Amino acid sequence: VTLRSLNEAILRSAALIVPATERAEWFAEWRAELCYVNRDATAFCLGSFRDALWLRSNNPTPTNRALRLQSPVRCALSLAVMAALSMLLAFGLRPRVKSSPMPEEDLALAWIWVFVLSLLILSTVTPLKLGEYPANRYAPSVVIRLRRWLFLFLKVGLLVSIACFGCFALAQVAEPLAPATMFLGLHLGFRWALTDQRKRCPVCLRLLTNPISIGGASQAFLGWYGTELICTHGHGLLYVPGTSTSWCCTQRWQYLDPTWSSLRP
Ligand SMILES: [Zn+2]
Repeated sequence: VTLRSLNEAILRSAALIVPATERAEWFAEWRAELCYVNRDATAFCLGSFRDALWLRSNNPTPTNRALRLQSPVRCALSLAVMAALSMLLAFGLRPRVKSSPMPEEDLALAWIWVFVLSLLILSTVTPLKLGEYPANRYAPSVVIRLRRWLFLFLKVGLLVSIACFGCFALAQVAEPLAPATMFLGLHLGFRWALTDQRKRCPVCLRLLTNPISIGGASQAFLGWYGTELICTHGHGLLYVPGTSTSWCCTQRWQYLDPTWSSLRP
């Protein structure tokens, strides 16, 4: 294997990360640049992974994975399907004769303990605040605003079901791994639920889009520094501060007047 074919293989594997629509052009560009690299060509090729990852995470085309979960219904349905599959797996693998030496009450207590522990650790490693959503005269009714909380509880409920049934299934084949996996599953699940919730419009519950950076870190004292996102249906704007300041330490939502609904795609 020559060094050149090894370098091309590295570029080809990095290209797999790039969104399919841009892959051919991206690969051709990197391969052309490789012809002019005389020293450390392998290090140059390894650098392509960073570029590919950047393109994948900042891809505005509809193939972006996050956009597939943009609709709240699709997000809830995906979680429900995963919960149903893990339940089927758990009951499918359940032994006919009980073999666990642990009494069922102790087992339930152990699982509740894992649940509480993952919540406690979550509150120490990540902020639980969802942000400020002050009502102004364009804010919708209380019932519509309450749907945001119902959606969060639904997501958490489905994630707990996925973790519980998934670990119940795992316990049938590798019992010692089940508590640690359940802890990790719940922890990551809760974190994702909070992050996902923060990125949604409080009115239509769709994921917000078009992030725009505003200001610079040096202007955080007198000006705004952070990212602004908008709901594609014109319900409002979300301002996420880049750094915590005394006057703005959490993300803030602003309801927009109905004329903005002309943004609707
Ligand atoms: Zn909206």
